[in-house]
Amino acid sequence: MSVRTRPDLSLLPPYVPGRSVPGAIKLASNEVSAGPLPSVVRAIADAATSVNRYPDSGSGALVERLSGKLGVPEEQIAVGCGSVTLCQQLVQATCGEGDEVLFPWRSFEAYPIITQVVGATQRRVPLTPEHGLDLDAMAEAITPSTRLVFVCNPNNPTGTAVRTEEVERFVERVPDDVLVVLDEAYKEFVDDPHVPDGVELAKAHWSRGRDNVAVLRTFSKAYGLAGLRVGYAVGSPQVADALRKVYVPFGVNALAQVAAIASLDAEPELLERCRGLVVERGRVRAELLAAGYEVPETQANFVWLPLGERTAAFNEHCLDRKVVVRAFAGDGARVTIGSPEENEAFLVAARSFER
Ligand code: PMP
Repeated sequence: MSVRTRPDLSLLPPYVPGRSVPGAIKLASNEVSAGPLPSVVRAIADAATSVNRYPDSGSGALVERLSGKLGVPEEQIAVGCGSVTLCQQLVQATCGEGDEVLFPWRSFEAYPIITQVVGATQRRVPLTPEHGLDLDAMAEAITPSTRLVFVCNPNNPTGTAVRTEEVERFVERVPDDVLVVLDEAYKEFVDDPHVPDGVELAKAHWSRGRDNVAVLRTFSKAYGLAGLRVGYAVGSPQVADALRKVYVPFGVNALAQVAAIASLDAEPELLERCRGLVVERGRVRAELLAAGYEVPETQANFVWLPLGERTAAFNEHCLDRKVVVRAFAGDGARVTIGSPEENEAFLVAARSFER
C-alpha cells in the first residue's frame, strides 16, 4: 500500500519554467534584466530584521497604497503570492467539478494546469491567424457551464494585445454569472493608446451595475520583483472577498510586501525603465523583421517567433550561442527583451539561424 494521491494528477502537464543555464544569457522568463533599485534593496534589508514575526496576512499597507494609486476601495483589492496564485484563487473561488474555464490558446501556460488542479474543465479558443485573441470566438464558446474566462492582455507568449472597443464589446456579451479576468501581467509595457487599462475598464463596467470583471497585475515584471512573488487582483467587493476566503494565511511574505511598497515609491523610475525597454523592443522586432522573421506586433516585454516545426532547432541554435529562449515545441519561441547587449547577442544568434 502507498499513499493515495488523486489519480487525475498523473495526467497533469508540469509547468515548465524558463531554464537558467550557467554562463548563458537568460531571455526565457520575461523578467527584467536589471536588478532591484537600491531603495528597494534597502527596504528589503530593513524588513529582514523582523522576519521572526509573521507578516500582515491581509497585506494592509500595500492594499492601502494600491487603493490610492488605482482609485479603487481597499475592500476591492486582494494581494497574492504572484498573480499566478491569484489565477488559481480565482478559479478556486468560482469553479467546482464540471464547471468550465475558458481561455485563449496559446496563452499563459498556467491556465490549463490550474484549471485541472481545481478539477474544473478547460475550454481553449484558438488565436486568430495573426496570433491575437479571438474575442468573438471566445464569446461564442461560452456555455452554461462556463464560470470564468481569462483574457490575457497583452497575451503571453504572443505579445499581441486587444483593443478597448473589442474588450468592451466582449464584456458586454459575457453573462453576469461568468467572471472575466483581465490578466495584465505586462500592462506597464503597453504603449498603444488603444489598448485598455483594465482597471479603468472594470470601473466603468462596475458603474453600470455589473460586477463580473476582475483585473490581475503583478510586481514580477515591470517592477522587477519576480523572485519575491507578489501580485494583486482588483475586482468587485464580492470577488475580492472570495479571493480572501481562499487565501493561504500569511502567504504573501513580509519582504515581498515592503518591496512592493518601495517599488511603488520608485514607480516613476521603474516606468521610465519600461519606456527604455519598449524602445529596445521596437529595435529588436525591426531587426528580426529585416532578417526575414515573422514577428507579431508586441505590447509586452518579449517577442514571439512563430517558427512551427523549426522551433526546437532554433532553440538549440540559440543555446549553442549561449542565449536561452523559451521554446514551445512545434509552435514558436518567445524571447524576452533584455539589456541592449543581451538583445544584441540574441540577434546575432537569430541572424545566423537557417530557416
Ligand atoms: N499572467 C501572465 C500572463 C504571465 O505571463 C505570468 C508570468 N509568466 C503571470 C500571470 C504570473 O506572474 P507572477 O505569478 O510572477 O505574478
